[in-house]
Amino acid sequence: MAPLKKPTSVTIRSYQVGFGDCFLVSFNYGEDATASRRHVLIDFGSTSLPKQGGFSLDSVAKDIKEKAGGKLAAVVATHRHRDHLSGFGGETGRLIADLNPDVVLQPWTEHPKAQPGATSPPAALEGAKGFVGALAAMHDVARFSLQEIAALRAPKTVKEQIAFLGEDNLANLDAVKTLMNMGGDHVYAYYGSKSGLEKVLPGVKVHVLGPPTLKQSRAVEQQRDEDRDEFWHLQAKASRRAAATGQPLFPRAAQVTGSVLPVETRWFLPRIESVRGDQLLEIVRILDKQMNNTSLILLFEVGTKKLLFPGDAQLENWMYSLKEAKEAPAVRKLLSKVDVYKVGHHGSLNATPKSLWNLFQKKNPDEHATGRLQTIVSTMTGKHGSVDRGTEVPRSKLVQALKMESTFATTQSLTSRTVPCLKIDIPV
Ligand SMILES: [Zn+2]
Repeated sequence: MAPLKKPTSVTIRSYQVGFGDCFLVSFNYGEDATASRRHVLIDFGSTSLPKQGGFSLDSVAKDIKEKAGGKLAAVVATHRHRDHLSGFGGETGRLIADLNPDVVLQPWTEHPKAQPGATSPPAALEGAKGFVGALAAMHDVARFSLQEIAALRAPKTVKEQIAFLGEDNLANLDAVKTLMNMGGDHVYAYYGSKSGLEKVLPGVKVHVLGPPTLKQSRAVEQQRDEDRDEFWHLQAKASRRAAATGQPLFPRAAQVTGSVLPVETRWFLPRIESVRGDQLLEIVRILDKQMNNTSLILLFEVGTKKLLFPGDAQLENWMYSLKEAKEAPAVRKLLSKVDVYKVGHHGSLNATPKSLWNLFQKKNPDEHATGRLQTIVSTMTGKHGSVDRGTEVPRSKLVQALKMESTFATTQSLTSRTVPCLKIDIPV
């Protein structure tokens, strides 16, 4: 067979995984159905599947296997959140591993040599162990936050939010191990580094626009300098100690119950507990945001088309490539030409920075315009954020803008497993 030169089209499948991401991106090099296609799986996870429609990760994995013809060129795991990873664990993970990806691409924060206890980190990752260690400690905090809510007297909505964010930030060790044990080249990328995908995708250029390393930008760890963050650092240490000894977190704390309180002070207890609920929620929010900012941001240049997959990257991650990096003007120029945008972080308010959205030149209110920007979001209403605070995901104002100025596709339109994914064909 003649070597593949450059793709003639790209097919994007966005699977219905409820709250999560799962994209199969197929690069088509010719007419022949299987031999001339290369498939890249970008994330496979869910924290909550739709209750109706019979969707399951198992059927998604089987469909990926079928559509990929039993072989993946690459697996990309943008960051270590359950809604991007859970499918790589258990039976579905084994099924994906059997598709023998040639490349497994993850952010630099997953680099084995950047982990605490590892020796000689690569030069670009020097000084990162503290940060990577803090990321690992977040999983302990998430676990203990989940334990705390059982006894917490806080409003139901607060408890639900803590539970949701806590679960998303659990360690996902099974999925992480499966990824680690997959064959093929393991690439741990950062802003400006090679993705390793070029060699499995002839004629495709892949730009890694994030996350920056700590040497490039301290912004991704910025919150560590703040008091509220110090609080969860302490909490992480205490949590680990508690886990190791089986002791309660604050063993010498006086135990009081409502019944022994003087009647005139009873108003106070629910208020204290409500504050505790709010604090805990704030802590898990910070964890969630910090992990999102370790997301890979990939821009695929295929023929004349540019496809942007930013995972869950939020503002702090984006700021480096958009503003701080010395190549920022060139990056902005590249981004201005984006044809397909995978909406960041399920459509949350701070993952599509206005400074990014304003760059996109192919936005167009005319739905019949040729070359109009295509946007795709994988999301589920009612799981993340709150309408009252204006933090709901997907954020209604953003969805409005996406609908108005781009050809917008959402996994929420998938209501039955007979149609397991959105399928978008892009001639290039
Ligand atoms: Zn996510």
